[in-house]
Amino acid sequence: MAEKPKKFHNRRNRRKPTEQLEIARERIEILFSQAEIEFPAHPELSNRYVELARKISMKFNVPIPGTLKKRFCRECKNYLVYGKNARVRLNSDRKYILITCLNCSNKMKYGYSKEKNQNLR
Ligand SMILES: [Zn+2]
Repeated sequence: MAEKPKKFHNRRNRRKPTEQLEIARERIEILFSQAEIEFPAHPELSNRYVELARKISMKFNVPIPGTLKKRFCRECKNYLVYGKNARVRLNSDRKYILITCLNCSNKMKYGYSKEKNQNLR
């Protein structure tokens, strides 16, 4: 009689229900759009939203989408608005974007393709 293969790591690797992950993902996106809305009047609130989004991301192990990752500083975690508190340089020859946080002068370099570039403003 063939035995069913045992799944040793089943319990350990059990992930949170997909529904919960969907909600987490959605909340991250909502927080970033709120950050964008609040920035002109309350930039400190925008930073708070980024912090919350990062916490959700870590708690549920949901990555922050690449486009949103570019919207905050990796160093000081401030919400970044290009042309306001961040400077963006495009290098079209080497296909990368250099984002400088004007708060802590941290420089972040991202490669880009045409598709990704559409999400940058
Ligand atoms: Zn910074």
